[in-house]
Amino acid sequence: MRILVVEDELTLASQLRTALAEAGYVVDVAVDGQDGHFLGAEENFDAVVLDLGLPLLDGISVLRRWRSAGRDMPVLILTARGDWHERVAGIDAGADDYLTKPFHMEELLARVRALIRRAHGKSSNEIVCGPLVLDTRSARVHLDGQPVTLTSHEFKLLAYLMHRPGQVVSRSELVDQLYALDSDRDSNTIEVFIGRLRKKLPAELIETVRGLGYRLNGPTS
Ligand code: CA
Repeated sequence: MRILVVEDELTLASQLRTALAEAGYVVDVAVDGQDGHFLGAEENFDAVVLDLGLPLLDGISVLRRWRSAGRDMPVLILTARGDWHERVAGIDAGADDYLTKPFHMEELLARVRALIRRAHGKSSNEIVCGPLVLDTRSARVHLDGQPVTLTSHEFKLLAYLMHRPGQVVSRSELVDQLYALDSDRDSNTIEVFIGRLRKKLPAELIETVRGLGYRLNGPTS
């Protein structure tokens, strides 16, 4: 899962990056409204944490522009304490949730999890796909009730596929799940990680769709 953080307070931006990365997300950070708007308009994110008070372009305008261009990723806005007008304006502009500064990082992580869950029509922290159960809160996977040990890359790929059962997912989408934009990105590594996942899981679970990508098979709930 890939998260965009748009926050101009550098200390908070770096705390958000660290906390979200430790929770297993791939994180990109923008420190002004223009850069943030560009990334959210051009790249696909599973959720966005958007501060409203930003240089160059304010957060409400960023959000309005995304929504009027049809960008519908879940957005959590960060607002100043006591400024209820700002919260109302943010929700009217298309925010899905808000947090008032200062906040506890645990609460932010819980809200981000809930936003991603709701965006995929899930009401529980567990995603079930046949014999596989993924707990998005603990970032653990069980197969037939037994824990499966996965590396962080393997977990990220499997979590992305399990959020989209039966859908073909392209290799470039999976690359986005593993690497932030400013890092070295190698799409050939996806095949290697999928190969390792197949050794740890029932082999037929992840199907290769020739020329298109991969698909997770199996009944879902
Ligand atoms: Ca700010």
